[in-house]
Amino acid sequence: GNGKKVGIVGSGLIGRSWAMLFAGAGYQVRLFDVVASQIPSALEDIKGQLERLSASGLLRGTLSAQQQMELITGASELSDCVSGAVHVQECIPESVELKQKMFEQLDALVDGTTVMCSSTSCIAASKFTQNLKHRSRCLVAHPVNPPYYVPLVELIPAPWTDPEAVTQTRQLMIEIGQSPISLNKEMPGFALNRIQYAILNECWYLVSEGVLSAEDIDTVMKDGLGPRYAFMGPLETAHLNAEGMLNYCERYGSTIEGVSKTLGPIPHWGGAQAEEIHRQLTAMVPLEKLQERRAWRDARLTALAKLKKDA
Ligand code: NAD
Repeated sequence: GNGKKVGIVGSGLIGRSWAMLFAGAGYQVRLFDVVASQIPSALEDIKGQLERLSASGLLRGTLSAQQQMELITGASELSDCVSGAVHVQECIPESVELKQKMFEQLDALVDGTTVMCSSTSCIAASKFTQNLKHRSRCLVAHPVNPPYYVPLVELIPAPWTDPEAVTQTRQLMIEIGQSPISLNKEMPGFALNRIQYAILNECWYLVSEGVLSAEDIDTVMKDGLGPRYAFMGPLETAHLNAEGMLNYCERYGSTIEGVSKTLGPIPHWGGAQAEEIHRQLTAMVPLEKLQERRAWRDARLTALAKLKKDA
């Protein structure tokens, strides 16, 4: 290990993933949970995951699965989890009240050097760090599920976050093999979900207009846009699809503007349309097959992550 300590608060799905990522880079990981009985089962689950990763040649870092496992230990007190840590990653349930209470507790336990990040999917750090003594050391570091194979981490500082805390977190994310981006200001949905929701809304619209079936909509993404964007983003793709971005605008700008005027309005995510899409999806994947399908998805994402690493 590198001798540096990271505290993980909350040992659910996301806390476990972070623990593995930090241990993979040699950090001393302390895992805390308010439900004490969760910790041994989290450690057991992590052990199994690390062994499976090792067996399939996908374990990160240079340490063996056992060495990585030895770096992860449970903490029975929050103070034990976070004191002296260079970084704390909060992974408790998505609730402003819970995050507020937790960050107040953390604020009382850390010194001015620890950076405190929340894994929140959609709550701005300004909603739960405003009155803290160490608020300049707090920000959001939002991972994407499953973080071991989907490396993006969105960093979103509050207006009072010290830019140095963002830089430090960015470097840490790179060091553990993740792919950080940083927003320059808080935005609802951050970046990934804003783009995801724009896509979902238009998918919804095309199905509700009877233009495409749910299955065919998904094929547009998985066999069209998905592969195209797996190695290169939409902006660089456009840049390459003409003689540079300005030439792309000249060639396709008016078409894009014209089509965009016909995009659907924001749909209501419920009602009869939701039932119809659900009906089509359950015909594709019955509810009792969801777990099996998730396992298949994660295996394919694993293979893709491996391919991208070699690319
Ligand atoms: P989870 O329910 O799997 O785990 C939450 C854990 O926190 C549980 O083990 C619970 O016992 C523990 N906990 C609750 N209150 C606590 C407290 N006061 N102190 C310590 N531990 C406490 O949730 P999750 O899916 O791991 O999500 C955690 C956070 O990560 C949420 O903010 C969520 O929005 C975010 N996130 C989730 C995903 C995802 O796909 N699940 C993706 C990105 C971000």
